[in-house]
Amino acid sequence: MPDNHTLVQRHLNMAAIHSTSTKPELKLRFALWRLGFRYRINDKHLPGRPDIVLPKYRTVVFVHGCFWHGHKDCKYYTVPKSNTDFWVAKVARNQARDQEVWRKLEAKGWSVIIVWECQLKKANLEETVARVASEIIRNGEIYRVVQEERKKARDEYLRERKERKEREQSLLKEVKSL
Ligand SMILES: [Zn+2]
Repeated sequence: MPDNHTLVQRHLNMAAIHSTSTKPELKLRFALWRLGFRYRINDKHLPGRPDIVLPKYRTVVFVHGCFWHGHKDCKYYTVPKSNTDFWVAKVARNQARDQEVWRKLEAKGWSVIIVWECQLKKANLEETVARVASEIIRNGEIYRVVQEERKKARDEYLRERKERKEREQSLLKEVKSL
């Protein structure tokens, strides 16, 4: 049985977990959830371990910190005055990795949405959520069309193969009956 101390501790831990819900990424997650989107988080089987994965829409979302990922023309991305070279190089490496991850995901047929942390601040949240939601839906529509075309092409291929076999067999029969 947990003693009182453990219970209090657990309560505090829960409170701590709850307080992280102000984190930009969680704000976006909750908003998408409320809109009815269902997703996996931090899928380690996908390149770059995307923050939010929406399989039904073949879409992944990354929430990027403006500083670490070098958000261009953003007031939250200012290169520190000291160790400038170090920081510039570090952010450049992160950006190169982001590009690589993006390329790998798109090669696997995933659409990638990047959301910057500054876009999830209170004043921008609603607009950002609306944009992300419509992008997800659009990606889902494209994905469905691609799937349907793929299915059509596959069905056609199978049909042609079957017809070819039938032709071959009837030819064979004719030859044998000669
Ligand atoms: Zn930013």
